[in-house]
Amino acid sequence: MWYILRPDSITVWKNTEVKRRLSHYYRVMTNKRPAKYLIVKRVEVNDDIDDMSYEELWNLHDKISNEFTRIYGEIVREEILPENLDKYLSKPKVSFLDLKIKLVNIMIRSCILCEWRCKVNRLKGQRGACGLNSETRVASYFHHWGEEAPLVPSGTIFFTGCSFKCVFCQNWDISTRPENGELVSPEKLAEIATRLRISGARNINYVGGNPDQHLHTIISSLKYMDINVPLLWNSNFYMSLESMKLLRDIIDIWLPDFKYGNNNCALRLSKVKNYFEVVSRNHRIACNTSDIIIRHLVLPNHLDCCTIPVLEWIAKNCPNALVNVMDQYHPDHLVLTYPERYKDIARRLRSDEIARAFEVAEELGLVFKPIS
Ligand code: SF4
Repeated sequence: MWYILRPDSITVWKNTEVKRRLSHYYRVMTNKRPAKYLIVKRVEVNDDIDDMSYEELWNLHDKISNEFTRIYGEIVREEILPENLDKYLSKPKVSFLDLKIKLVNIMIRSCILCEWRCKVNRLKGQRGACGLNSETRVASYFHHWGEEAPLVPSGTIFFTGCSFKCVFCQNWDISTRPENGELVSPEKLAEIATRLRISGARNINYVGGNPDQHLHTIISSLKYMDINVPLLWNSNFYMSLESMKLLRDIIDIWLPDFKYGNNNCALRLSKVKNYFEVVSRNHRIACNTSDIIIRHLVLPNHLDCCTIPVLEWIAKNCPNALVNVMDQYHPDHLVLTYPERYKDIARRLRSDEIARAFEVAEELGLVFKPIS
């Protein structure tokens, strides 16, 4: 059925460059390699993590992360298939995943899941800039046909709430209303993800709103999952460094939005500080740890300040990334309410702006038409 809806989801794999750049994702998707989270669950932690301070837990985490990288390298080299994983690595009493769960549950008690670093105790019902307590709500989940060709059908899970306040948000009904959606436990989230994979999803696509604010529930859900499936992180990439460290051993493919080329535009249009430093740092980590497709939504009148600097940064720092330059911007949310205040983006893109964005991307060797 989906071959008819999106024939490019098949033909895209004939593009050798796409296949090379997404080789890890492709092998996990086709069950030729175990997903990273399955290995994380099998890496043993011998220390008593209940008896350690927060700093000691992080030191241990970083040490075991190196060990994980070594073990994962062996599994890749020896081409261990997912079904043979149990023969190769037994399930430990306390795993690297348990250590990550322990750390994230400490982090939300003085919340630093993203770079707002609000330090509120979300477990006690306090709310920071994202407006969320510790509950996780899912607005919807389904096989998404509109994502990039290598990803569809994508098992997409839409979480509510967001750390950004983009004035042009097209998902404002779930990003600005954290209470919209069904309350999910880690067990329920694992069941949703498993069902999406069994029914044909190529990946589990954590998105929103934004998924970063729900890291505690998402990481805990992996305890209840055993199915082989690439995990995909589809976020604004404003996560804290600590969240990035928890995620980098777990995520098989990143799908970040790189929106702005400078901090002024980010502050005015998404109400966040230090955008470029945070988001470029996280892109650097992501590019060095897993496959990646970077999205850039072209905004009208923002070619020189945003599109061109973002594309140049990617070409220099993430040359192996696939890039989706998106031209479908339309005014929405507060831009529709206050068109005078946001005059620069109160219209659709002109054809010359679209042409210029693609021209720059092509000059930099970034655009892969089969993925868009
Ligand atoms: S997730 Fe980010 S915005 Fe939300 S409370 Fe934590 S640090 Fe603040």
